Amino acid sequence: MWRETAKHERNMRIFREELDAFLPERILDFHVHVINREAVPAERPLDTGGHRIGKYDFDDLDQDLRDTYPGRETSAVCFGFPDIHYSMVANNRYVQTRCDRRRHFPLRLFDPSESDPAAVEKDIAEGGFLGIKPYLDYVRKSDPNSVEIAEMLPDWIMEIVARRGLIVMLHIPRRGRLADPINQDQIISLCRRWPEVKIVLAHVGRAYFLKNVVGNLDKLKSLPNLWYDLAMLNNWEVLEHLFSVVPREKILYATDIPIALAPGKSVEINDQYTYVTSVPWHLSISDDHRKLVFTSFLYEEIRAIRKAVGRLGLGDSFVESVFHDNGAKLLKEAGV
Ligand SMILES: [Zn+2]
Repeated sequence: MWRETAKHERNMRIFREELDAFLPERILDFHVHVINREAVPAERPLDTGGHRIGKYDFDDLDQDLRDTYPGRETSAVCFGFPDIHYSMVANNRYVQTRCDRRRHFPLRLFDPSESDPAAVEKDIAEGGFLGIKPYLDYVRKSDPNSVEIAEMLPDWIMEIVARRGLIVMLHIPRRGRLADPINQDQIISLCRRWPEVKIVLAHVGRAYFLKNVVGNLDKLKSLPNLWYDLAMLNNWEVLEHLFSVVPREKILYATDIPIALAPGKSVEINDQYTYVTSVPWHLSISDDHRKLVFTSFLYEEIRAIRKAVGRLGLGDSFVESVFHDNGAKLLKEAGV
């Protein structure tokens, strides 16, 4: 059982003692991956924090939302897994058919090698997609660290997304992450050139450690069409910095379920970050000596949000906005 939900008594205790009084009634998760078994090749299962699973479908999601946030009204922005080995077409189709745009809101995986703009636009329109989810791997460069945002988002797709006023869920590339000057320039030019497009900077530009975020929001914070999603941010110092620098209505609660449900935590060490997990994972250092009892990345994230909120003296209205209202407003602007 890789899911660290409140089904386990130790997590229920965390929920009751630390999270229950903090979390608002309604929770909208702006960053959730869903995939049907048919889209996942049997020889390449999903890797959620070192745990292999053959699918993560809407039944899994609904169960996990219930078990993660007991007593809360939950909803989610959903998209597929942007892995070049999975079937993007089947995954998009599955997300589209299962999202009702009332509780589950669909974004469409986008591959820049798709060659027919009219067909893509038709697919977006007929599928009721509220935006797109590009990814660096779809650029298919031999060195994924050399990918640029502009290569993930050719002009023709931006024209479509702009015409429809939709969302781009942007996971930025490059080793320097939020601090990378090419990323900084291209985020700014993307927002300025396409003011109708709502750009969501996933994982706050992957700035999981303090040095990556400090100073690097200064040129971005005044962009009116840029939002920040909190998925997988477990570091309260990063969150405290974000909350005190960017406009508060631009902050979106988000998790990266299903990975966020795995046991682990993201930690900062010497101006870098790593994940620490209970079992080996290609992105982590793992607890080979079995010394630790883990909870989920997701609960660690809420703990960090709560700590940052407390230190800054932010009230209930801030918490309600971040966990629900800011995202709901953005979805409305995108045409829900
Ligand atoms: Zn993600």
